[in-house]
Amino acid sequence: MAGQRQGEQYHQQRLAGLTALVTGGSRGIGLAIAQALTQAGCEVTIIGRHAASLDEALRQGAAHHSLRADVTDLGGLVSLMAGRHFDILVNNAGSAVSAPFSQQDPAVFAAMSAQHLAAPAELSRLLLPAMLGKGFGRIINIGSTASVQGYQGVAAYVAAKHAILGLTRALALEVAKKGVTVNAVCPGFTATDMILDSMADTARKTGQSPEEVLAKFVSRKPLGRLVEPAEVAFAVVMLADPLASAINGQGVIVDGGESIA
Ligand code: NDP
Repeated sequence: MAGQRQGEQYHQQRLAGLTALVTGGSRGIGLAIAQALTQAGCEVTIIGRHAASLDEALRQGAAHHSLRADVTDLGGLVSLMAGRHFDILVNNAGSAVSAPFSQQDPAVFAAMSAQHLAAPAELSRLLLPAMLGKGFGRIINIGSTASVQGYQGVAAYVAAKHAILGLTRALALEVAKKGVTVNAVCPGFTATDMILDSMADTARKTGQSPEEVLAKFVSRKPLGRLVEPAEVAFAVVMLADPLASAINGQGVIVDGGESIA
């Protein structure tokens, strides 16, 4: 994609000398973010639960270091982050669970909140003091178009994604004068396992092929296709840039216009 290449060149090495932590950096959007930050000159560490995909990301050169951990284990995060400092924190790890509200197990609300709110909050709490001490830091939370609008059948996910945008705005104000910014990037439907698995599931239930399900789905979207992970990553690199110092508390929507259609 020519536009994407131009973007990569613009940010080339602009983040040299900075360190970044990307949760869920082994696959999907997080992998693209890790790759883009590495290309921009950052020393990148990724977190995920499975060694095989973490190792594969390192083998591809997407990141420099990996940590195997479940971000919802808040106690584990305290020991994992002890003595570590990062200039850039990207809270990306997470999944979506869908079910009609009346059939949704209360545990799903706790799980969505743990992944999309409690883990980002705890990592921010642990890493913020060093950012404030240095007078520079970037916290970038991966929200969703579900941070700004409702969707049927995913109430717990939508509620948790609204909550992370609320945390983003509140924390942004607390650090506004201290060289640290806190923003969210809110992707629309993006081509990763999370979406493609759900298309495959719909295909199985309706007797259509996954390609038919996808074609019908994207035909209703302004962009006419899914968002690419690299397009989400570009917004993250932009917000991480030292020159983005006056962009604070924002939810940058990367959805090809879906939320304004
Ligand atoms: P994927 O399923 O493709 O990747 C998820 C990543 O997060 C993997 O690296 C996974 O690794 C890791 N992960 C998941 N749970 C945990 C956990 N508890 N602890 C540590 N790592 C974890 O998802 P996407 O890339 O699609 O989604 C990434 C983020 O983007 C999520 O926050 C999602 O809500 C958001 N988003 C996605 C959209 C989409 O359409 N795809 C749209 C809008 C927002 P492992 O399984 O090995 O732990």
